[in-house]
Amino acid sequence: MGSTNQEIYLENKTISLYIKREDLLHPYISGNKFRKLKYNLVQAKKEKKETLLTFGGAFSNHILAVAAAGKEKGFKTIGIIRGEELKDKIAENPTLQKAKDFGMVYEFVDREIFKERSSPKFIQQLTEKFGDFYLIPEGGTNELAIKGCEEILTETDEKFDYICCSVGTGGTISGLINCSKNSQQVLGFPALKGVFLREDICKFVFKSNWDLIADYHFGGYAKVSIELILFINDFYQKHKVPLDPIYTGKMLFGVMDLINKNYFPENSKILVIHTGGLQGITGMNNLLKQKKQIQINVYD
Ligand SMILES: *Cc1c(COP(=O)(O)O)cnc(C)c1O
Repeated sequence: MGSTNQEIYLENKTISLYIKREDLLHPYISGNKFRKLKYNLVQAKKEKKETLLTFGGAFSNHILAVAAAGKEKGFKTIGIIRGEELKDKIAENPTLQKAKDFGMVYEFVDREIFKERSSPKFIQQLTEKFGDFYLIPEGGTNELAIKGCEEILTETDEKFDYICCSVGTGGTISGLINCSKNSQQVLGFPALKGVFLREDICKFVFKSNWDLIADYHFGGYAKVSIELILFINDFYQKHKVPLDPIYTGKMLFGVMDLINKNYFPENSKILVIHTGGLQGITGMNNLLKQKKQIQINVYD
């Protein structure tokens, strides 16, 4: 199942740019989270699990996706959330409120404990507390998630020279690399600062036609600048494609900047993947409003 490629018209350029609208796959299980959950849900059913347990931060696209998928497929869902202070603030947090509406049960843990989330001891404690569950790692990245992301590209996408995507844990780009042609170059734009990603991706891929462009994280995960917000608003005005401020906005800012700097050779065909994440806009706007900063325009 492929999603539509929408053309983004560029002025005075020999470059052609298309955006794959994976954000339209599902209203809550958006973009790459849909792909990453697909085979995990099949596996959980196969193992006769009744509950999905996963981890995430306050505005996590993954948390909402797991809650919505659980509701749709008949699993109970448990979310282990970073930050004890959020416990009394669910109603103020659009992501957590929505996931709760889908039936997700929360365990709020402080940041130190959250760091232990993959330790066997912590998992054991969670099993004692909640009983048996199917564990999905934070961000949803595992072998089955990558298998799902290998379905993002279809045969008609073979004509593109470059495939660009945002990078969080590296699961999505790994799937894209595995299903790309050797003649294609896959470029990842990390949404966070850090050096671990490259090794993480190497664990999952067996090709070398890829690179990370680390210049567009805007200071780190979930950090935004006025320039970025203005770009997102302008991009919508011009192309009628909404972007989120955490992932796709930064990636497209980077791609447009590189196009302007003539990074891509003449006549290049570029496909950018819209990995979704639009549910995060409301939460980000609430923060921007508190800081009296310009917000992301929302249209529907
Ligand atoms: C989670 C997410 C990503 C990052 O995906 P990884 O597989 O973790 O690299 C990118 N874009 C959006 C919108 C996301 O929600």
